Amino acid sequence: MATYPASFAHGLMFHRFHRQGEPAAGQGSISDAAFEAMLRAIGSERILAPQEWMSRANAGLLQPADLCITFDDGLKNQVEVALPVLERLGLKAFWFIYSAALRGSYDRNEIANLLATRYFASFNAYVQQFEALTTVSPKAFESADWHYYAQGLKARFPFYSASDVRYRYMRNHLLSLTEFEAAVDRLLALLGLDLHAVAGQLWMTADQVGALHTSGHVIGMHSYSHPFSLSALSARDQRVEYQANFDDLTQITGQPPRSMSHPLNSYSPATLEILANLGIECGFCSNMQPPGGHASVNPSPLEFAREDSTTLLALTASSG
Ligand SMILES: [Zn+2]
Repeated sequence: MATYPASFAHGLMFHRFHRQGEPAAGQGSISDAAFEAMLRAIGSERILAPQEWMSRANAGLLQPADLCITFDDGLKNQVEVALPVLERLGLKAFWFIYSAALRGSYDRNEIANLLATRYFASFNAYVQQFEALTTVSPKAFESADWHYYAQGLKARFPFYSASDVRYRYMRNHLLSLTEFEAAVDRLLALLGLDLHAVAGQLWMTADQVGALHTSGHVIGMHSYSHPFSLSALSARDQRVEYQANFDDLTQITGQPPRSMSHPLNSYSPATLEILANLGIECGFCSNMQPPGGHASVNPSPLEFAREDSTTLLALTASSG
């Protein structure tokens, strides 16, 4: 790859990993080999340790070329597959953890992602099976609301397939959380799988989160339960989400968190106020566009841009 673009400081956003030669760990999963090649191509000297990123951000001294590494969701394959790569390259990262999974309350969305890649020939095949387990009517995909949603999503995430968009519309808009979870549980039953056994393979334990903190990585917030649309919650419910996550992470690391990322990029002015009141100094969005209502990226220290790993992978791979 030619020089990685550097028009403004931003985070590099990662979710799922698998070992080279093993099955993908979910949609957008990248291998340890690809992760290492990508970081070397970008240039590890440009990647700031999270403490350095925060101190430059607080002082207003972040430069356009400055980058940092972020992991969302507290997934076990991040410590098992990506952490050894960081250690080889001498890099530290932000790890944004929603704590419900640590307490045995599992995000069916992450479980669904694992099922989609492990048990179906394609994401399209998964979406068809999933849709059949819901009461969603095909007519829902003829509405003006659907067309508006699909256009907006394709503009922000050009790499999404038609199935990706259809699935997100069902998950985020047509189905209630209870309906979505019931459909995933029906899918688990159909496949003959146990929820707790699957969850145990997916998420880090509290001890693993604590060990990351002890070894110099930075643990930050990502809400308690990872709602599909945090901004749709009342200010009171948003505060409950972040206070619970704040308390859990403080207990695990012995230090109050100072950083966060917005789950599914969902937040409102009320969210930013709640985060500021909790002493959060640095927050991350999940795309490279100016946040709604702003003319440019990085409008506040709680809204730093991030590039998705799928885009990073495409840039790295295009170097040949
Ligand atoms: Zn997340």
